[in-house]
Amino acid sequence: MAEYKIKVKKSCDAESCGFRCQEACPRGVFLAVPAERHKEKQSIYPRHRITPRFSYFCDGCGICIPICPSQRIKVVLKMTGEKILKKPLANK
Ligand code: SF4
Ligand code: SF4
Repeated sequence: MAEYKIKVKKSCDAESCGFRCQEACPRGVFLAVPAERHKEKQSIYPRHRITPRFSYFCDGCGICIPICPSQRIKVVLKMTGEKILKKPLANK
């Protein structure tokens, strides 16, 4: 199976979009982690960002790319460096 490299910008604010990519990925690639590394910096309503923790499960379907409201996800075919691009969905 082809291998893919996934990048998610650290500016991801998962609560603001409702963890869309994590919900949509059929391969369970994404993991939500606390946005602040230090406990004392976290508010009583902690924020999370998404990481591609299980990227080895990615099959390059591209579903996650148009789903992100802020274009924070990039998927690249490792062997050739080819960027996976999917057309924006009609209903975001
Ligand atoms: S390209 Fe498909 S399998 Fe890969 S992370 Fe995105 S939604 Fe998941
Ligand atoms: S869809 Fe975009 S903003 Fe929402 S959790 Fe995923 S990367 Fe973050």
